[in-house]
Amino acid sequence: MAIHTLTHDDEDNLEFMVSLIRQMHARQESPATSGNYSFRPEKSEGDFFMLSESAVDKSIFGRDNFIGVSEKGEVLPLWQKDGRNAAAESTLHIAIYNRTNAHCVLHSHGLDSVLFAEAFPGQDVAYVKGLELLKGFSGVDSHEETFHIPIFENNQDMGKLCKKLNEYLDENYQCFGFVLRGHGITCWGKSVWEAKRHLEVYRYLFEYFIHRAK
Ligand SMILES: [Zn+2]
Repeated sequence: MAIHTLTHDDEDNLEFMVSLIRQMHARQESPATSGNYSFRPEKSEGDFFMLSESAVDKSIFGRDNFIGVSEKGEVLPLWQKDGRNAAAESTLHIAIYNRTNAHCVLHSHGLDSVLFAEAFPGQDVAYVKGLELLKGFSGVDSHEETFHIPIFENNQDMGKLCKKLNEYLDENYQCFGFVLRGHGITCWGKSVWEAKRHLEVYRYLFEYFIHRAK
C-alpha cells in the first residue's frame, strides 16, 4: 500500500503553491475565501493529489491548508484530522488530472474572468488571435494561431460541469483552462510554473478584451 508522503521536490512545490496562492489573493483573485488550488505530486510514492482546504482566507493560506486526497477524492489517512475538507470543486480538479497531463490546477474568482465572459454573450467559445503573448501557452508557436477559450455556464452540480469539460476535451486537445460565467477561471499546466504562466496569459487576455469592449 502506498504511503503517500511528499518528496523534497514536492515539498518545494507545496511551498511554491502557498506563495502563489497568497500572491493571487493580493491580486484580488480569491476574495472572501474563494478559489481552490491543487497539485499532483510528481515524484512522491502513491498516486494522489494535494488539494486546498475549503473556507480558508487565502491571505493566510499555509502549507497545512493542503490536504492529500486519493484519485477518488477521499481524504488520505495522513490528513484526516479535525474534520477538514477539500474544496467542493475538488471533483473538477480530479477530472482535469484524469484527462490531461496537468500537475497543477488553479481556480480563481477574479473579476476580470467574469467581465471577459460578458464580452462574449451567448458564445460558448472565445476565439483569440494576433497577440504575441498567446505564445505563453504551451505549444503555441505563433501569434497567428487561433486559440480557443471555452466559456461554460456556471453550475453548482460538479458532475454536470465535469461532463461538459470532458465533452469539450474530447474535441479539443489544446486546452489549458475554461471560464465559468459569473464565476471565474480554472486553468492548469504540467508543472506549477506552467500553470502560473498559463494563468498570467489568460488574465492578460481578459484585460485585453475587457478594455476592447469599453
Ligand atoms: Zn469557484
